Amino acid sequence: MEFQFSEKLLLALLILSSAGLFVWNLRAKIGLILEGPTDRVRTDHLGKRLARTVREVLLQTRVIGQRPVVGALHAAVFLGFLLFAIETVEHFLEGFSFSILEPLLGPALPGFRAGMTGVAAVVAVAILGLAFRRFVLVKTSPDPRSVTSGIVALFIFLLMVSYLNGISSNPVAPHANWWLHAIIILVFPHLILKSKHFHILMAPITLFFRGERLGDYVPLDLEALAEADVEEVCLGLEKVRNLPWKMRMDFFTCVECRRCTEACPAAQAGTALDPRGFILAGRQTLRAGRPDDQVSDTVISDEALGFCVTCGACENGCPVGVEHLQLLVGAKRAQALATGKGVVASDYFRAIETYGNPFGQPRADRRKLISDLEMPRFSGADGEWLLWLGCVWGYNPELRSAVRAFQEVLNTAGTRWGVLDEEPCCGHHSRRQGDEAQFQDLARRSLEILRQKKAKQIVTPCPHCLHTLRREHSSPDGDYRPQIVHYSELMHTLVVEGRLQFKPNGAQREAAYHDPCYLARYEAIIDAPRAVLAATGTTVRELPHRRGQTLCCGGGAAGFVRELEPEQRLDRVRRAEIVGSGADLLVTACPECRMMLGAAVDQTKDLAEVVAESVRAGQAGTRLAEPELTALGK
Ligand code: SF4
Ligand code: SF4
Repeated sequence: MEFQFSEKLLLALLILSSAGLFVWNLRAKIGLILEGPTDRVRTDHLGKRLARTVREVLLQTRVIGQRPVVGALHAAVFLGFLLFAIETVEHFLEGFSFSILEPLLGPALPGFRAGMTGVAAVVAVAILGLAFRRFVLVKTSPDPRSVTSGIVALFIFLLMVSYLNGISSNPVAPHANWWLHAIIILVFPHLILKSKHFHILMAPITLFFRGERLGDYVPLDLEALAEADVEEVCLGLEKVRNLPWKMRMDFFTCVECRRCTEACPAAQAGTALDPRGFILAGRQTLRAGRPDDQVSDTVISDEALGFCVTCGACENGCPVGVEHLQLLVGAKRAQALATGKGVVASDYFRAIETYGNPFGQPRADRRKLISDLEMPRFSGADGEWLLWLGCVWGYNPELRSAVRAFQEVLNTAGTRWGVLDEEPCCGHHSRRQGDEAQFQDLARRSLEILRQKKAKQIVTPCPHCLHTLRREHSSPDGDYRPQIVHYSELMHTLVVEGRLQFKPNGAQREAAYHDPCYLARYEAIIDAPRAVLAATGTTVRELPHRRGQTLCCGGGAAGFVRELEPEQRLDRVRRAEIVGSGADLLVTACPECRMMLGAAVDQTKDLAEVVAESVRAGQAGTRLAEPELTALGK
């Protein structure tokens, strides 16, 4: 196509002014992000980070994972966008009578164009599908009123149609068509910058800098803070200026999809907590430019924060790598350590401080449990398992049947095991409720005692203890690294090794299994409890929220000892789901979940109770078939 000199001049001016304005506005946004302090090293394990970014950006695994149809349509548009980059350059070069594709591809150009015709058609259909979902299926759309989304969808559709028209053998109004295509491309970046579509630029960067695992909190250096200048001390996210740059980046990257809010048990229970809401409030707060404002007045209220159980469902489902938990726990630290206001776990902290357990029970209660059940003391012998009871098994008499059942399972399997005379709280909930000082004190005491006892293998029924002992009680010199497993993993191994014999099962029974958040989502222990249940002849009736997408029982972040009004209780949402499943037996693999969901259906049992019953019922039993064992990677 031929262009006059005046058209070339106009095109050059438009390109320069569009690019200039874009860079100017982008600078302002980047400036707001870079004003934030650094919270941790985010450039380590470069290879891993790059591989993850490629997987999550190019293959769109996070987007497709939870919403396969919408995700696939999104992936088609995104990949089409990337493929069109070279055609976009070619389009503008054509305006100046240049081409790179012709010399580059030569006779292969028609074939390339035929391929791009297919890509354009797929992108056009995909964007129509996404627009249909947003503006017609309004019930499932995150924000059916979004005008920008409508304009972006229209622009993408017009880009594809004008491209197809432009390369056809007999194009309609070719000159006007060319300019329409060019103008849309020149306006598009500004639309991106001013809307949630900024994620097109930011998501790859946010995903690259994201932490490696869910809920990986940087310990506060309390000694250094004690000696630091008062002005420099930062005990959590108290003021807007304390918000780190990655968190600011998260605020601007959020695509407003509502996945986090839909997954949040507190939002489902109708409380004031709304993960998407506080991320968007963070964005507004940065734009307001008042660094000395309180985070609790601007980003997330103390009331909303009080309902978070740190279940991680919000962050786990976010397609663009927003790290909600860093904000939630950072704000909790400010409550507990700096402002002292809004703390919902004061009673919990006090009970731990005074009695060493969350129930405020005398330490003698745990000693009595050990002597009543005649539990062996851990001696540190080779091959011996240390059974870390955790506070709930140690102090809640209602769960004694579960303790007894696991004891029976261990004994039946001929396992050498023992418990500690004194077991400190691992500090899991103290950290998640913001009291980092209490957590670090408890972690140091736990580590000391485990090291003293030379425990090399630790088994615990509690996913919270498991996660904390495994991930957070690191030995400062790194020389003490015991093996720490969940009791479902150990029971699974015992089954596989044929050390547990079950009743031959004519009468199969069914049970709903509740995946604990810290087991399934944080530790990815999903198949072991199911395999153990299968070995006992129990068929799992899967709940709507299951495996990595499980729904919290409400016990997290000290929720299992908090008194709440019935309408504020998170467990009622999960209970309703369990009741809705029609199961009359519920199996849990976490002492806290067992407490929270105790009376959900006719019977609620601990996994160990189900195994013990089955073992008791007979010796000539079933063993897992070989293919099942292979599938579990054992
Ligand atoms: S961690 Fe769980 S409770 Fe807290 S905001 Fe996220 S989804 Fe909601
Ligand atoms: S934070 Fe993530 S999951 Fe939540 S609305 Fe934003 S993009 Fe969606």
